[in-house]
Parts: sequence; structure tokens; C-alpha cells
Amino acid sequence: MNVLAVGAHPDDLELLCGGALALYSQNGHKIFMCHTLNGNLGHEKIPRDELRDIRRQEAINSAKIINAESMTIDIDDMDIHDTQETRLKMAEIIRKADPDVIITHSPDDYHTDHNITSGVVFNSSFASTLPQLKTETPCNKKITPIYYMDTVVGVNFQPEEYVDITDVIEIKKEMFSCHKSQVSWLKEHHKIDMIEFMYSFARFRGMQCGVKYAEGFKQLKVWGRIFPKRFLP
Ligand SMILES: [Zn+2]
Repeated sequence: MNVLAVGAHPDDLELLCGGALALYSQNGHKIFMCHTLNGNLGHEKIPRDELRDIRRQEAINSAKIINAESMTIDIDDMDIHDTQETRLKMAEIIRKADPDVIITHSPDDYHTDHNITSGVVFNSSFASTLPQLKTETPCNKKITPIYYMDTVVGVNFQPEEYVDITDVIEIKKEMFSCHKSQVSWLKEHHKIDMIEFMYSFARFRGMQCGVKYAEGFKQLKVWGRIFPKRFLP
């Protein structure tokens, strides 16, 4: 399968579905990791343009660990809107990845960048199949299932499917640790140890389904996107 995961900020995927992506990769699937925003507001001191470049490289480094292709539509933080222009940019990403399954944010997460990204992915996924909406790459032939990854630490999110990530938790940690600018900033200025945060969150979902570490998901259930099989690893 081709698996397309779309997060808002450059480090969202690692926290919310990095384990599942590592498992897809181990099972021989092709992974595309896209962040819609460039993360340029995610630091107190590093200037925006510099931070944008740093975070792009951090995302590339993380994707490399599981042989994933890193992609972005490079929108400034807090500036994503569900417009036709944004939808076409995302449609082009979806056409390039030609996914069999898409993973993105829940529309009920804590950050407007996450929630808008979720809506943009849903709308663009449909748009990517329409031949008269032109982008560089020709249109996709199929409507794909969409899975919502957990919200940050699971607030307002009851998973319907779980992925046992016990065997790949260290890979998830390694990927997440590539986002050095975030891990150090949050530790210094917000007193949050993001690595501990990641482990506790995965442990909590693991306890719910009887394994050491897990990630939780919900499938978007609308007509045309429901299939009688499991797409998660
Ligand atoms: Zn985020």
C-alpha cells in the first residue's frame, strides 16, 4: 500500500501515529509524511525563516528513519485556511502519494492548525479524484479510507481501533527526537519533557487494549470510504 499521513506541524505525526508508520514501513508499505505548516512560530527565539528551515530538516531526518518521503505545503503557522488554493496544494500532495489509506488529525483536536488540516485533507482527498481540478499530477482514481489519529494526549477522543506499537516504541522515540528544536524549547520554556510525554501517552493507550504501548485511531465513516477490511497495521 501507499500510506499518506498528514499532520499540521512538522512533529505531529511522530507523536500521534509514528508507531503505526514504523510498522507500515516494516511491513513493506510506502510511507509519505506530510506537514501542512512549516512550524515557523514554534520557538521563542529562533527567527521564523531560520526556524522554518530547521524544522523542515528535522522532519526530513525523522522520515528517513522509516524510509518515508517527507512532504510539505509549507504554510506559515496559524495561517492555514480551508480555501480552494490550500485544497489544490493538498490535492497535489495526495495525487503524488496516490494513497491507499490516509491518516490525519481528528477535527476535534486542541489546535486550530490541526483541526483545519483535518478538514483540508478530507476535502482535498475528494478533490484529488476530480479530473477537471487541475494540478501538476493527474487525478487519482480512488476514494481512500481516512483514519483520524489521536488528539494530543487523547483529550476528547475515544479510539475505535488500536495499533500495538510495543515493538517499535524506540523507533517512534528516535523519530520524535529528531525534532530537536521542539524537544529542547518545550523542556526549557514550558517544563514539558516531550519524550516522557510521548511514552506516557502511548502507555495509557496500551493499558486500554492490554499491551505495553499503543496508538489509538478512529475511521472516518462516510459513504464511499468504508471498506470491509482493516487498513491499520
Ligand atoms: Zn501540532
